[in-house]
Amino acid sequence: MKYVSTRNNEVHTTAAGAIAQGISSEGGLFVPSDLPKLTNEDFLALSEMNYCDRAKKVLTPFLNDFTAEEIDHCVKGAYVGTFEDEQPAKLVSVEDKLNVLELWHGPTCAFKDLALQLLPFLLTTSAKKVSGGKKIVILVATSGDTGKAALEGFCDVEGTEIIVFYPCDGVSPMQKLQMDTQKGKNVHVYAIKGNFDDAQTGVKKLFTDPKMLDKLDENGYQFSSANSINWGRLAPQIVYYVSAYCDLLAKGEKIPEGGFNIVVPTGNFGNILAAYYAKMMGVPVNKLICASNSNCVLTDFIKTGNYDRNRPFFTTISPSMDILISSNLERMLYALSDGNDQLVASLQKDLAEKGAFTLNEEMKNRLDNLFYGGYCSDADTQKTIEKFYKENGYLCDTHTAVALNVYEQYVKDTGDDRVTVVASTASPYKFAHSVLPAVSKETSTGEFETVRLLSSITGTKIPAPIVALESAEVRFDNLCAKEEMQTAVFSSLGIQ
Ligand SMILES: *Cc1c(COP(=O)(O)O)cnc(C)c1O
Repeated sequence: MKYVSTRNNEVHTTAAGAIAQGISSEGGLFVPSDLPKLTNEDFLALSEMNYCDRAKKVLTPFLNDFTAEEIDHCVKGAYVGTFEDEQPAKLVSVEDKLNVLELWHGPTCAFKDLALQLLPFLLTTSAKKVSGGKKIVILVATSGDTGKAALEGFCDVEGTEIIVFYPCDGVSPMQKLQMDTQKGKNVHVYAIKGNFDDAQTGVKKLFTDPKMLDKLDENGYQFSSANSINWGRLAPQIVYYVSAYCDLLAKGEKIPEGGFNIVVPTGNFGNILAAYYAKMMGVPVNKLICASNSNCVLTDFIKTGNYDRNRPFFTTISPSMDILISSNLERMLYALSDGNDQLVASLQKDLAEKGAFTLNEEMKNRLDNLFYGGYCSDADTQKTIEKFYKENGYLCDTHTAVALNVYEQYVKDTGDDRVTVVASTASPYKFAHSVLPAVSKETSTGEFETVRLLSSITGTKIPAPIVALESAEVRFDNLCAKEEMQTAVFSSLGIQ
C-alpha cells in the first residue's frame, strides 16, 4: 500500500510521509492506494478482543512503514488510562435495533479524542522517520471540538508546537473556556474575527504558501495538520466503526441481509468518511446516513449531486457542524470517481473559484447507492433531545440529536428500520445551555450553574473534565483578524 494525492496520482508517499506532511504540496489530500479487507473470521476474532487489540489489527495494514512495536506503543499511549474506562467507544442500546455509539468518554468529552489521542503518537513516530529532526508545528482551524482535543493530545509532546485558531463567535462558551484554559508550554490559542470557513481557509493558505514554508524551514520547523485532512486523523476513526460491528456481533444482534445502517452527524465529512472506509474494508453497512443542521450543504449535495456553498451561513446550537466547505468530501470524490485525480482537481478548482461543483451521472449514482442525507433545524434538535430523554431515558447532546432526528426522517421516508448505529459525538454537558432548555423549564445564567442543574434534573453524571474546568485559569485571550494569521504563527514560534 502507498498513499497518493487526490489531485495527482503521481505524488505518492508512505504512511509516515502522509501523516508528517498532513496535506500534499499541490493541495490534494493523501488517500491509501487500496483498502485492506477484513474477513468474517477476522471480525469474529476481533469481537473477542479489547479496543487496543482491535485498533492494532485495523491500523497495522494502514501504517505500512511502522514496526509492530511502534504501533503497539502508539495505540497503548492513546487508549490506556486516558478514557473514562477501558472501552473508549461504547455501544449503548437506546431502543430495539437502535444503538448509540458513545464516542465522548475521553479527556475533552467529544469524539475527536478517539483520533486526537492517537495522532500525536503517530505524528512524532512519523516525523522521526521522515522529517530529519525538524520540529513539527501543528496548525489547527477548529469549529470548537477539534481545537480542544488537539491541544489536549499535543500538550507538552516533545518536538511539537500547536497553534489553534477558532472563530470568535462560532464556538460554545464551554468550548471557548476549554481552549482558553489549556495548559502546556507548547500551546498557542487565537480567536479569529470570522467564521469557521474563514479559519479553515486561512490555515489551508498558510500550509501551501511557499514563502511561509521557506521561512519555517530556515528556522527548523515543519507544518503538519491535526485537522481531518490529515490521514492520521481518519485512520483511528475507522477503528471504532469496526469495533461497533464487533460489539453488535458480541451481543448476538442479528445483522440483516445487506448490513446495518450508520448515522453520522456531519460537518467536515471526516467521521462519515471513516464509516465509508470501514464499509469498504468489509463491515456490512447498508446505508450511510449523513445528518446536517441548517447548514445543509451536504443534504442538498446528496439529493442533487450539486455542491453549492453560496448560501447563508447559520450559527446553530450544534456548532461543530456549522460548516459549508466539507474538506474531506475531496476524498469521497476521489473514491466515487475511481481515483480520477484530474477530475477531482477540476471539481476542487470549481469549488475554489465558483464555490460550487456538479457530479457527473456515474458519480451521482454511486453517491445515491451509498448515502442518504437529511437535516434538522435547531427547534427540531431540541424536540429530539426532549423526546429521547422522556421516552427512552436517554440524554444526548445537540449534535447527536441532529443525527437521531435525521434517522427518524429516514425511517419514515424509506420504511427501513433495520439495526442501526448512531454515532454520538459529544457529551450533553459540553452543550448544557442548549440541552437544559430541551428537558426542563428551569433556567440559569452561568455555564456551570446550567451544568449542575442539568445533572440534578436528569440524574446523570457531570464528566470529570468539565468539573475541573470551573476552577481552571484562563491563559489565552487573543483576538486576531483573518489577515493576521501569518503574524500570529510567527509570533507564537518566536520567528522575526
Ligand atoms: C467535529 C464534530 C462533528 C462533525 O464531524 P466531522 O468529522 O467534521 O464531520 C460532529 N459533532 C461533534 C460534536 C463534533 O465535534
